[in-house]
Amino acid sequence: MESIVVHGKTFVPYISDEEIQAKCFEIAVKINNDYKGEKPLFIAILNGSFLFAADMFRHIDLEAEISFIKLVSYKGTTSTGNVVTAIGLDERVKDRHVIIIEDILDTGRTLYQFLPELYNQNPKSLKIATLLTKPTARLFDVQPDYLGFEIPDKFVLGYGLDYDGLGRNIPSIYQLEE
Ligand code: 5GP
Ligand code: MG
Repeated sequence: MESIVVHGKTFVPYISDEEIQAKCFEIAVKINNDYKGEKPLFIAILNGSFLFAADMFRHIDLEAEISFIKLVSYKGTTSTGNVVTAIGLDERVKDRHVIIIEDILDTGRTLYQFLPELYNQNPKSLKIATLLTKPTARLFDVQPDYLGFEIPDKFVLGYGLDYDGLGRNIPSIYQLEE
């Protein structure tokens, strides 16, 4: 495989399509086992997770629902700084087993600020499935329950993840060249 150039920056092949698909299946099998007999609600966080959500969810054999939300962060007026608001989150979370689907856990800030909003709606349980995590970049204490790949703190794109709007349609994951 060859490197690609996006917005003038060079990216090198990092995780193949086959590896990603195998991992999607593996995660779905784990969830199928863990939630046997349950009817979980998956909440995928747009935009980045849409391919992972689709490829993983198609292997879920439970009576599951999926919903897509968008998290918009803006500068809050309180001392906490940024505030995250969820667009498209409805009331169906109450008493449900909820599994959040994320593309990548980086600093953890986004989920750290969003999780309290979800807990307020009293889900029966709340777990996080993420395709990627950068443990050394973490600034906020959020840990994945279902994980695809642990990666170093370097920028990646492809498979839903963008660089300034581009690259989401690439079937595999590329890493910014040093
Ligand atoms: P966090 O709030 O955990 O710092 O960041 C979460 C979001 O930042 C991810 O959902 C993703 O949209 C974006 N992000 C973090 N690292 C990367 C990366 O290496 N590449 C891309 N394309 N997006 C990233
Ligand atoms: Mg994201």
